[in-house]
Amino acid sequence: MIDSYRHKGLRKKLVETIAEKGITDMKVLEAIGKVPRHQFMDSGFIEFAYRDQAFPIGSEQTISQPYTVAFQTELLNVQKHDKILEVGTGSGYQCSILLELGAKVYTIERQRELYLKSRALLNKMGYKPYFFYGDGYLGQPKFAPFDKILITAGAPDIPQELLKQLKIGGRMVVPVGDGSGQVMTAIDRLGDDDFKQTEHGYFSFVPMLKGKQ
Ligand code: SAH
Repeated sequence: MIDSYRHKGLRKKLVETIAEKGITDMKVLEAIGKVPRHQFMDSGFIEFAYRDQAFPIGSEQTISQPYTVAFQTELLNVQKHDKILEVGTGSGYQCSILLELGAKVYTIERQRELYLKSRALLNKMGYKPYFFYGDGYLGQPKFAPFDKILITAGAPDIPQELLKQLKIGGRMVVPVGDGSGQVMTAIDRLGDDDFKQTEHGYFSFVPMLKGKQ
């Protein structure tokens, strides 16, 4: 897959755009500057790959807006070697950003077609997360606990099962709300039954749905 000078130039501009919008974590900006977003998009949309916008990726889903990906990643405070559960593999773009930051990623997708497509693409690109086809509401109890949990779909409520799979000292980032919009929420696990919740503005995600398809 080609990553041309033109792509690299557009990516540099994209990094400048999201930095202007308020992302300050250099490691996150570097990761956005590294991952070739155009390779995650259907061919018809490639020319839009480096606009700061969400786009359709098939199966009625979207690749998140780069600013949103950067915002969630910054809020997650990713450290090298963090064990991260991502709910909603989608295109695999967010997953690749987490891998660029040196995390070990477990990613779940409920739509079989997307799971297969993204698994093949990421393998081809040399990214190596653990892929799961299933319902993210259930998490991955076998591999728990996780340092971080990142939900990339709008959850009507905070998924309680996932809180149980978070390490003490760990953080979950989840957009909470129904179809129309969600509040970006960070939850820190301070103790067995001690959670601290903070809110970080409004976003718009496709819904987190139950079961698999
Ligand atoms: N992280 C993705 C964003 C994709 S949009 C990216 O970078 O492209 C959100 C994704 O969450 C969709 O692919 C949707 O199918 C998936 N999803 C929704 N509910 C889910 C659930 N309960 N478990 C796993 N994936 C889910």
